[in-house]
Amino acid sequence: MQTISNYINGQLNPPVSGKYLDNYNPATGMVYSLIPDSDEQDVALAYASAAAAFPSWSKTSVEEKFKIMMRVADLIEEHLEMLAQAESIDNGKPIGLARMMDIPRAASNFRFYAQAITQFSSEAHQMEDSHLNYTLRQPIGVVGCISPWNLPLYLFTWKIAPAIAAGNCVVAKPSEVTPMTAFLLSKICIEAGMPAGVLNIVHGNGPKTGMSIVAHPHIHAISFTGGTKTGAAIAQVAAPMFKKLSLELGGKNPNIIFADCDFDEMIATTLRSSFANQGQICLCGSRIFVEKSIYEKFKTAFIAKVAKMQVGNPLDEQTKMGAIVSKQHFEKILSYIELAKEEGGKILCGGSAVKMEGELEHGWYIQPTVIEGLTYDCRTNQEEIFGPVVTITPFETEEEVLKMANSVSYGLSSSVWTQDLRRAHRMASLIQAGIVWINCWLVRDLRTPFGGIKHSGVGREGGFEALRFFTEPKNVCLKL
Ligand code: NAD
Repeated sequence: MQTISNYINGQLNPPVSGKYLDNYNPATGMVYSLIPDSDEQDVALAYASAAAAFPSWSKTSVEEKFKIMMRVADLIEEHLEMLAQAESIDNGKPIGLARMMDIPRAASNFRFYAQAITQFSSEAHQMEDSHLNYTLRQPIGVVGCISPWNLPLYLFTWKIAPAIAAGNCVVAKPSEVTPMTAFLLSKICIEAGMPAGVLNIVHGNGPKTGMSIVAHPHIHAISFTGGTKTGAAIAQVAAPMFKKLSLELGGKNPNIIFADCDFDEMIATTLRSSFANQGQICLCGSRIFVEKSIYEKFKTAFIAKVAKMQVGNPLDEQTKMGAIVSKQHFEKILSYIELAKEEGGKILCGGSAVKMEGELEHGWYIQPTVIEGLTYDCRTNQEEIFGPVVTITPFETEEEVLKMANSVSYGLSSSVWTQDLRRAHRMASLIQAGIVWINCWLVRDLRTPFGGIKHSGVGREGGFEALRFFTEPKNVCLKL
């Protein structure tokens, strides 16, 4: 049984209390490692180490920061296979996905922000020949980064990399459900020569460890990705302390399919946007709206493909659908399938747990599930399920589908499938979401703003947006 350590002041330490939490392998349903059950004492130590490192790190040259961050990226790539295996075991995701997406992206996050900081600039505003204003962009100090379990190392590094590139020191907490690759990252940071205290990783649960970071009086900014309810709880504590907040929250994304789309490409991509990572990507399109004239054709083709998707051992190379991340989440997803039936939904395919054999007997698996016959405003179509469950609904006009698509409290991402250029632009401007993919899905240029509107979040990550978040602009006005 592996025991995970906190990473504080450049060293791997046990939690002060000596207490640990169980970490499960979702493929087997068994405890396979122990993670620190850290409390405010560990967060205080992490803060002290970050605060001590800040004066030097904030003055470290861009060139030196670049070198260290590039070394971290190189080491992530060097250890790609080991990290991909660890991510797959910890999260239940197919090994192929971890190898192709999660781990390469973690390396890209470090590489991207190592380079971005060399190009970051600020504005100057001259007032004729009387005064010159310029904006200093200074690091905030010690910042907190809290991330979820669905893309563990990918999202953890997406916060940490811009924070340290901008000259801050970090107290970070990965999800207690998937702590392993964050632990392995701490070893990589030691190997890369990251100065002690620049990054501190404190493991533990949300209400205790996470809240200790949020409530810490001297951690002045919090970057959080996770559920909308948790975001609200964090905002409630952070707002009266006037902390800077970046919140990337839940979604209930529409996938809008017009009759004139490239049908084969749409079907192949819709399969991925529905079920990649067992539907546990905040950007998955869980509400599929199909123009009535091709509804039956879509249904037949889509169901035929979904029915062939094999749920299997995440570590098998062939597996496209792995395990659900935890027992609690598994039960939540199944309860939503029951709700969909109560609300009058017809299960076209899937709809139940999968019983595996041998050492996977106690793992958490659910069939990819497609439901039709629900109203757009029922709970199944309004609440985030975050699992391998999609609904399909026909529509006749743009107005009708926009009304349904925009009816939810969320506004994270969306997809539109059409060959009509004018319609594509019209839909893009009218859909209430932070991201609109047209004839594609999950294509990410790291320079673009990333985030949601409505209950999907506040603020944007990505590109210079994240560097702006992790710096304070200061106006300097000089009399000429
Ligand atoms: P979660 O909100 O339960 O947990 C996220 C993180 O917050 C974890 O590290 C957790 O320990 C911590 N946390 C929980 N309660 C806390 C508290 N009271 N104070 C401080 N920290 C606390 O979310 P999850 O179940 O890990 O992730 C799934 C959710 O994340 C989904 O809603 C999904 O849509 C969302 N998500 C959003 C994005 C995005 O970019 N918008 C990306 C991925 C996931």
